[in-house]
Amino acid sequence: MEAIIDSADVLRLKHGDVPLPAFFPDATYGSVRCVDAADLVGCGVPGLVMNCYHLLTRPGLGVLRHFGGARRFSGWGGPLLTDSGGFQVFSMIRENPKFGEIRKSEIIFRRENGEKLNLSPEKCIQAQFACGSDIMMCLDYCSHPEDSYELSAESVDITIHWAERCKREYEKLLAAQNARGVAQNEHRAAHGAYRETQNEHRAEHGAHRATHGAHRAPSQNIQHGAQHGAPNGERPLLFAIIQGGGYRDLRKRCAEALVAIGFDGYGFGGWPLSSDMQLIEDILQYTADLMPDDAIKYAMGVGKPENIIKCEAMGYNLFDCVIPTRDARHHRLFVFTDTYGDGDVDGSKSEDKSRGDGRLLHSTYYILDKAYIRDSRPVSDSCDCHTCQNYSRAYLHHLAKSDDSLLYRLATIHNLRFYAELMERLRMRRRSADGAGHG
Ligand SMILES: [Zn+2]
Repeated sequence: MEAIIDSADVLRLKHGDVPLPAFFPDATYGSVRCVDAADLVGCGVPGLVMNCYHLLTRPGLGVLRHFGGARRFSGWGGPLLTDSGGFQVFSMIRENPKFGEIRKSEIIFRRENGEKLNLSPEKCIQAQFACGSDIMMCLDYCSHPEDSYELSAESVDITIHWAERCKREYEKLLAAQNARGVAQNEHRAAHGAYRETQNEHRAEHGAHRATHGAHRAPSQNIQHGAQHGAPNGERPLLFAIIQGGGYRDLRKRCAEALVAIGFDGYGFGGWPLSSDMQLIEDILQYTADLMPDDAIKYAMGVGKPENIIKCEAMGYNLFDCVIPTRDARHHRLFVFTDTYGDGDVDGSKSEDKSRGDGRLLHSTYYILDKAYIRDSRPVSDSCDCHTCQNYSRAYLHHLAKSDDSLLYRLATIHNLRFYAELMERLRMRRRSADGAGHG
């Protein structure tokens, strides 16, 4: 496949450029809880992860097709990655087999209302085309690092087989989409419909662009929306997922088979944490090394800042997780500690997560702590987010005590901005390492 990452380490997608490494928040059902597209742009969020399986159940493919995709439906104009849903279905069935079964041909899922939903590799790709994704994920058979060798081997065999079927379906639908595009262009050229195209383009990206002025501009250079009809990234990308649990030979077999089929990116499949919640660093590093260096290396579901920092050093350059948004709703706020001088992150509940070099030192606040009752400072003096520019810790504490849903929005905005800045700091670290000849 052709190069998808340019020399400046930017991933070119149809709906925007993504500087790498990047973190995409989870918008499982098409929304990032408590914030809207304008908030996301204000935070400098470079892309979202939606879930194909969840969108199939709600609002359903019919609604998304009616709106011409999940982007127009949700008002999000930037890059969109859709996960297949294999992981979620697997987790549910693993927890309770009454929810369905995994066959060689497909996954059968039984909903609580008795409705049956089958997810085949072909259906999964069809749904992701309907969502209008920039990055599609192959359906995979997920395993757990502590699964038996036999089960992990079976998951690898099925994952490879499904990846072949996904690739075939992807190429078929891409050819059909291209044929439609050529036909439309010929039609437009014949009727001089340039204006119409512009208006359509505006409708699609207008909501997104209008929001650019709503907040302070993000410090990083994110170009959403291919505003000038940039020729890069016209094709959606297809990523495969490397399974194999905790077994190196299986990871190797899976990676080699998938690389032979050829994908734009590769995800680390299965749980990235052991049963005692520790990052399985040796397997993550081993698997990253099996992925081609000109492809995206996606550490799926890795989201604690300290784990992102470790995985980025291993070579991973794409991350997603619910942690920044879910922790915000649990009153936990992330801050960098290097900008606070001598450890001014006060409050007994703040934990020191200091690791790595100085610019990546970080910690968390628990905003319900009574230490903040009269604290007039923002959450972080150095943060340029909407929350820190306008509100004090005391006010956030008050909102939390009052169980006001405004707290969820303001806390989510701050945490998403923290993650965007974390990625910017990692990019700076990478650039200085490259400059020093250690890259
Ligand atoms: Zn902030």
